[in-house]
Amino acid sequence: STPMASEKQAALAATPSDVDGPTIFDKIINKEIPPTVVYEDDKVLAFRDITPQAPTHILIIPKVKDGLSGLSKSEERHFEILGRLLYTAKLVAKQEGLDDGFRVVINDGPKGCQSVYHIHVHLLGGRQMNWPPG
Ligand code: AMP
Repeated sequence: STPMASEKQAALAATPSDVDGPTIFDKIINKEIPPTVVYEDDKVLAFRDITPQAPTHILIIPKVKDGLSGLSKSEERHFEILGRLLYTAKLVAKQEGLDDGFRVVINDGPKGCQSVYHIHVHLLGGRQMNWPPG
């Protein structure tokens, strides 16, 4: 099957029964699974996606999930971290030299093809993106 199909299958298979439970990103945050880190501060971690969909494909996540399994679960208390995630995407895009453009994506829920229930911003670049997305 195509990578896109398998990613979709992973998303559908991950249809959450316990979105507040631990995810693989906990192991990445504590470096039990060592990520390729491109940016880190006290609040956020940015690392390379293990299945890149573009020459640059980076995930930006909060170090503390605080109920943010996905964007659809966000509350007013998350305003600051949501802003930080997007601002970090901008910083990393610059660091990666994506001066001619890039894309940020947040997949949400089964129909949004979300497979990991710890909010993450995808930063994609290094090739021409298409619209509409699949
Ligand atoms: P989403 O489909 O939006 O939930 O995105 C989850 C992303 O996490 C996918 O693009 C996966 O390739 C990526 N991913 C899963 N496991 C790892 C890992 N161990 N290291 C880096 N990226 C991962």
